[in-house]
Amino acid sequence: MTIKSLQQVLSETRVSVAAGRTDEAGGAARSKNPIPIIYPATAEQVTLLPEDSVEQVDSAVALAREAFETGPWPRLSVAHRQKILRDAAMKIREHQGELAVLETLCAGLPFSHLSGRQIPRAAENFDFFADHIGTMAGETFEQEAGFLTLVTREAAGVAALVSPWNAPLALASMQIASCIAFGNTCVVKPSEHAPLAVGRMVELLEQAGVPPGVVNLANGRGNVTGNALVSHPGIDRIAFTGGTATAKAIMNSASANLTPVHLELSGKSANIVFEDADLERAIDGSLINIYSNNGQLCIAGSRILLQRGIAEPFIDQFVERTRKIRVGDPMDPATEVGPLAFEAHMQKVLGYCEIARAEGAEILAGGGRLDELGPGYFVEPTAVLVDNNTLRICQEEVFGPFATIQVFDEAEEAIAIANDSDFGLVGYAWTENLARGLKMQESIRAGTVWLNTPLLRDLRAPFGGFKNSGVGRDGPRQCAGFYTEEKATIMPRKAELLKKMGMD
Ligand code: NAD
Repeated sequence: MTIKSLQQVLSETRVSVAAGRTDEAGGAARSKNPIPIIYPATAEQVTLLPEDSVEQVDSAVALAREAFETGPWPRLSVAHRQKILRDAAMKIREHQGELAVLETLCAGLPFSHLSGRQIPRAAENFDFFADHIGTMAGETFEQEAGFLTLVTREAAGVAALVSPWNAPLALASMQIASCIAFGNTCVVKPSEHAPLAVGRMVELLEQAGVPPGVVNLANGRGNVTGNALVSHPGIDRIAFTGGTATAKAIMNSASANLTPVHLELSGKSANIVFEDADLERAIDGSLINIYSNNGQLCIAGSRILLQRGIAEPFIDQFVERTRKIRVGDPMDPATEVGPLAFEAHMQKVLGYCEIARAEGAEILAGGGRLDELGPGYFVEPTAVLVDNNTLRICQEEVFGPFATIQVFDEAEEAIAIANDSDFGLVGYAWTENLARGLKMQESIRAGTVWLNTPLLRDLRAPFGGFKNSGVGRDGPRQCAGFYTEEKATIMPRKAELLKKMGMD
């Protein structure tokens, strides 16, 4: 298969790839240490991303603060804010193709998956939170005769929103929509590996009517720009989606200012298939759960656990289908898996293929780089057979198209293996037995359990991880809790009541 060059993609799509700030403070030429943005399918340089310094982060936080303290956004009527959020969703839909190209150029995700699913989801996030703020209500209490207590919510302030590269727009849009819907302002720090679509979305939000200063962009590496942002004393909330190790550093920085954090983190989830499962469905679902999004999925079902009776037919069919996955040009609509997002990440995933061999795992499919696809970062969809959940490849998040397969006998054994992990993001179980499905639902220690279902997210339900997979939850009520401060107001119904209490 030939892979379209960067020039071909740019000339066919006529998308502009200017990166970062265009104001007098920015420009790659003026940035001390610009970051090359590389097209993962060809390893060509797309553009240079100017890195925002500590001072530039400070200015972005100051703009967000001013917009919060004196700007119109927190003071708009709910109906007005809803309209702007819906207009933002519309703008994203109007620019779906352009955003999908930018995302493909940075992250290597298949264009068709982006334009068909992830970009529409980014738009939906704004519509969803527009709808939600229209349903919010306060509380009243009347414990003391003659006195009324009101409980209201108000916006928390300025948020730092830090996001990863594996689904940049889908994840950053969730952070931004859930933050600004309640009247907050923010500084957004996308991943230095995939900043272009998020940067373009921030421009589109302003075009949709989000006032200047409400959503500010800070670009750069985690240890420079990201660190300056999360340790800034002017930040009232930190929402972070990314790796568990980074989250620990962020929580440390946040502790100096007692800044509340919401953390959506890594996973190493079990995908359990029982003998009574609908095998065809379970195989389809298990393939989706590990290889979609180029295998770079926090919710990947990366540890496939098979009950002995179906292990052989499952493995035969799973491996055959894994070998047939169409890996290649992410701009080609027929492509199912594109390149990994950047070279160091590809090396990390290939490193785990070596660790698998060293740990004695049997390589059933893949296990190497697809050199014939040129200099891009293509790795074969890989499946390995293991007999022991303590191996590194079973305990550490590979975050690539890499599945371990392990056989078990009894349900209790599968539950023990599933829960023998530092992570607890999600779990999958495939069974036609309702009681067994419900047993899995209550036994798997994870924030989401999918029964006979691959990767279906319901925005109304909370999403987040147990254990090292997260702190807090996404979701309408949960985000209202995180992004607002509750306030109690107590007042007498009549002035005479104060006289009675001797307080007039
Ligand atoms: P990462 O932790 O390396 O980086 C995430 C973001 O944090 C980037 O923008 C990075 O620049 C920034 N960052 C890094 N160090 C920082 C610091 N010291 N201070 C402030 N910011 C810093 O993660 P990644 O490699 O971009 O993403 C992959 C990880 O994200 C995987 O572990 C995956 O499971 C996880 N993830 C979780 C979810 C979820 O919803 N639970 C969703 C997607 C990805």
